Amino acid sequence: MSITIFSKKKKMDKKNLKEFQDLLEKEKKELEDKINELNSQEKNMAIKTPDFMALEDSSVEADEVEELNNLLSLKSVWENNLYRIEQALERIKKGTYGICEECGELIEIERLKIEPAAQICTKCIKKKNKKTA
Ligand SMILES: [Zn+2]
Repeated sequence: MSITIFSKKKKMDKKNLKEFQDLLEKEKKELEDKINELNSQEKNMAIKTPDFMALEDSSVEADEVEELNNLLSLKSVWENNLYRIEQALERIKKGTYGICEECGELIEIERLKIEPAAQICTKCIKKKNKKTA
């Protein structure tokens, strides 16, 4: 009887899975909206400050350049988040969501609640941090 436990593929509880799927889809929608908004903001600013790349001799106000740079870095953070969320949704489809990519164990629910797009478990993060430290 106990053998079946070992051969059974690790999987997340269906109810939990659905919850995280909803959460991820909601986050995805929000991020897409935010990125779209930034894109139009960015367009407006780029028109106003066409020389923003050439900081040295540009007559553009420094804080406008800074604002645009902030905007761009914010956007890359959001796009990165969006990518991770899309990957997580993909894993839900494949049935591998919530499984640590390093050790193959289930990722702690508490961790997923904080970071639904997490790819590795807390233990493996700690291991990684030790290595890079
Ligand atoms: Zn792990």
